[in-house]
Amino acid sequence: MTPIDLRSDTVTRPTPAMRDAMLRADVGDDVYGEDATVNALQRRVADELGFEAALFTPSGTQANLIALMAHCERGDEYIVGMDAHTYKFEGGGAAVLGSIQPQPIPHAADGTLPLDAVERAIKPIDPHFARSRILALENTWHGRVMPMDYLAAARALCDRRGLGLHLDGARLYNAAVASNVRAREIAKHFDSVSVCLSKGLGAPVGSVLAGTRDLIERAKRWRKVCGGGMRQAGILAAGAMYALDHHVARLADDHRRASTLASELAALGLPAHAHTNMVFVDIPVDRQAALKSYLGERGIVISTGYLPTIRLVMHLDVGDDGVARTIDAFRAFA
Ligand SMILES: *Cc1c(COP(=O)(O)O)cnc(C)c1O
Repeated sequence: MTPIDLRSDTVTRPTPAMRDAMLRADVGDDVYGEDATVNALQRRVADELGFEAALFTPSGTQANLIALMAHCERGDEYIVGMDAHTYKFEGGGAAVLGSIQPQPIPHAADGTLPLDAVERAIKPIDPHFARSRILALENTWHGRVMPMDYLAAARALCDRRGLGLHLDGARLYNAAVASNVRAREIAKHFDSVSVCLSKGLGAPVGSVLAGTRDLIERAKRWRKVCGGGMRQAGILAAGAMYALDHHVARLADDHRRASTLASELAALGLPAHAHTNMVFVDIPVDRQAALKSYLGERGIVISTGYLPTIRLVMHLDVGDDGVARTIDAFRAFA
């Protein structure tokens, strides 16, 4: 029985064709800028997203951290969602390592940061205050796609108030595929964008940060300082390149499967909602352990926690049969 791992879209294994591309990668020392495959990946992502330059990083956490460090100086501040990955799930790196103060803002139900609240959080220029330097958004956020007119309004606010605008676009391609637009239509509102290649796109390792040439130069320095200067990283970049060539359009399958799973669970009487490749199901915390072990016995792996909602994530290694098995197991449990 093939296990079905619904914890995250980070759990994918490289496909045989991807491994083959990795095996054949042309490599060099990327700290010297001599890895042809890394250079090609960086060029490609920069061009595809409409930026001057891009930088390959070992993780999305590091891409966001060095972006913040490249935008901000010590004593600056970034405005960010209270439940944003950059703020909540990256160990406080911007503050810990960058001396950058976060200014968290509560999210609206759709995941956006209300722009009047963002504007009220911008500090006056006065020695009492940290210098508000950038706004950091996330798209998708918990699977939700940020509305295009919201992104345009956020850009206008940042222009008016002299802030930079960074996107944690770990799942930028999910947002683009779900909206049926090219990723650059979303990226164009931002000064810098990070993209994870190791989530739904299915590469084993790596993210890319894109921005202006100046910003990427500064980020490259911080990447080295943070220990992210990798040597023959083309082995990894080849997997990432393969993912961009072959695994973007298929994100639509993940979204379709999430939507099927949510409606079938809802038909069983479970409150379930799909957003791009994620399904959220309300399950009382005290029933979650029983559900987890019941599904586990049937080869279905989920994460549970302290919230009354569980998240089921579709990805490259979950097919239609996996969705059907999941629905059957939930039906039997219910
Ligand atoms: C996974 C994720 C990251 C960080 O990526 P890692 O490669 O796990 O460090 C950043 N932002 C969001 C929204 C993510 O989901």
